[in-house]
Amino acid sequence: MADLNTGVRFVKGVGEQRAKALEKLGIHTLRDLISWFPRRYEDRTETRRIADLIPGETACVAAMVAAEPVVSRIRKGLDLTKVRAVDETGALEVTFFNQTWLKNGLRPGETYVFCGRAEGNLLRRRMVNPIVEPEGRRESTGRIVPIYPLTAGVSQLVLARSIRQGLDACVDILPDVLPDEIRREHRLCRIGYAYENIHFPEGPEALDLARRRLAFEELFLFAIGLRRLRRRREAAEVEPFRPVDMDPFYQALPFTLTKAQLRCVDEALADMTGRRPMNRLCQGDVGSGKTMVAAACAYFCVKNGRQAALMAPTEILARQHYEGLAPLLEPLGVRCALLTGASTAKEKKTAAARLAAGEIDFLMGTHALITGDLEYRCLGLVVTDEQHRFGVGQRAALAGKGDHPHTLVMSATPIPRTLALILYGDLDVSVIDQLPPGRQPVQTSFVDSSYHPRIYKFLRKLVEEGRQVYIVCPAVSESEEGGDDRKAVTEYAGQLRREVFPDLRVAFVHGKMKPREKDAVMAAFAAHETDILVSTTVIEVGVDVPNAAVMVVENAERFGLSQLHQLRGRVGRGSWQSYCILISDNQNEETRRRLKVMTKTSDGFRIAEEDLRLRGPGDFFGQRQHGLPGLRVADIGCDARLLQEAQAAAVALLSRDPELASCPATAERIAQLFAEASDTLN
Ligand code: ADP
Ligand code: MG
Repeated sequence: MADLNTGVRFVKGVGEQRAKALEKLGIHTLRDLISWFPRRYEDRTETRRIADLIPGETACVAAMVAAEPVVSRIRKGLDLTKVRAVDETGALEVTFFNQTWLKNGLRPGETYVFCGRAEGNLLRRRMVNPIVEPEGRRESTGRIVPIYPLTAGVSQLVLARSIRQGLDACVDILPDVLPDEIRREHRLCRIGYAYENIHFPEGPEALDLARRRLAFEELFLFAIGLRRLRRRREAAEVEPFRPVDMDPFYQALPFTLTKAQLRCVDEALADMTGRRPMNRLCQGDVGSGKTMVAAACAYFCVKNGRQAALMAPTEILARQHYEGLAPLLEPLGVRCALLTGASTAKEKKTAAARLAAGEIDFLMGTHALITGDLEYRCLGLVVTDEQHRFGVGQRAALAGKGDHPHTLVMSATPIPRTLALILYGDLDVSVIDQLPPGRQPVQTSFVDSSYHPRIYKFLRKLVEEGRQVYIVCPAVSESEEGGDDRKAVTEYAGQLRREVFPDLRVAFVHGKMKPREKDAVMAAFAAHETDILVSTTVIEVGVDVPNAAVMVVENAERFGLSQLHQLRGRVGRGSWQSYCILISDNQNEETRRRLKVMTKTSDGFRIAEEDLRLRGPGDFFGQRQHGLPGLRVADIGCDARLLQEAQAAAVALLSRDPELASCPATAERIAQLFAEASDTLN
């Protein structure tokens, strides 16, 4: 089977049932399937003896089941299966929740491999919900095992088996998108080997080779694609915007813009009065006031008789932009509207009609702005907020809604400038390097959980003074194994309501709530109908509630510094003293040093650099899944050297063969990756 665009359900051994589950993950084609790369790996090559298990560490043991498993019902919906397993060094008590089929699946006298976190103590060793399989038929242990990003309904095993089937169908005939001489020159393995070993590594070296090759490939294609986009963009010509009297806009603002904001506005306006479409990145630390730069540009565009669109990564943010900007701009004659995934079908229809008729000047929203059938009458400017959450494709898809509209990308991710230039090779960069006046630095402290009573007392005092509070909990780290980050948040909120703040207004919000529910909770918080908001990192990006004065982060060690910086940026937006309290019981010295950095500086760029230095680049951009446009394997921090190599290779290839005539497989892949982007430029 050669066609990578074949639907997964036609892959031998996948079938209807699994295909349905896979589609939930966004895996539709054979290519999607084999490109669903592991998030991480667990080395389960080694099996230990029971006596060598160390409580707290994850390991595998091969042990004989000593007696019939015992099932007991704790309550409705909760059954425990207990089994005792032994080897020549000791005994292991194993408990399973709700896996009663194991009662017959585990036979006394047979040896099984149990793989999980050892608990208990050195005298009584236990495991809860380990992976278990017969010693003679090992699939999930005995080797380096891929751990895939998941959502509910698809298990690791189902995914691994489906991918195995997918690879069997095509791994030997995958077209190599890297030209042979480039592959050899950079000592990269072949594509089939890479796909095989990124999923099912023969060993650590094979995994390294595979990763290196795939990362190089991504960076290489990315570099070529961006360069060609830029070249085409520069070839495009647009009708220059006329200068516009900006005074009415500035006078309508409740404050004066900072020098840095004004500079960014001027740079953008200058771009738009030129003959080339603007393509600018506006980078500014959290709270630096990027929204107003976007608003100024939108005003300028609308006064030139064109439409503007602002795309935000979340419902919450989109709504907030709308609620902040519409009252400011409407009186100036800018007709604003909001469109998100949560809008009703009727709202969407009305908006679409008004948009096409030119009755909306400034449309704000989420991905809904780029749905296929939405038509703009005369789109002149596209602003994307928090760019790192969107792919190049999405950005370009929105730009494709107009005839070479100007684009402005706003990002708070403080990427060192050089890196930004490489990554956003097709963008010009403006930096807002100044905060609005009157901001007091957020007082940051770092404590362990024994401080909880004192912290609660402190929160109560501030709430009584009229302030509001955020409490952030990490997502449960095992979420990819079917755990659930809702629990952490909802349970904690419940506990606070019952035991700590029964008289205060405590609400919670997390990413798995319906957009409407989320919006409602956020709106209530913004309207000060809530005192304390317990949340996951859904509030990490951009949310603006100036009255919030405290950010408490539980299990702070789970977050990257840049992410903590983003979270901290949610407070300190008003004129009163604000606080950020990081709580962690982690004793690791490195971790503690890392968190201490937060108490010493509030400079986002310095923090990003520290993050890179101390922790390595894995978390540099916050959570991996928001990663960089189109990059699934490459890690810009780790792979900086590789990035340079790939860039150089791309430049060299384009200079000797600008149309990629010598390497059709490469050209085809780039065309696919940049399909939406190219549409806009053709
Ligand atoms: P960013 O998106 O860069 O993180 P925002 O645009 O959300 O920041 O602005 C943060 C807060 O600062 C908002 O409440 C905004 O109204 C306010 N603000 C923006 N510019 C100024 C300014 N020049 N002077 C005072 N306050 C400002
Ligand atoms: Mg913002």
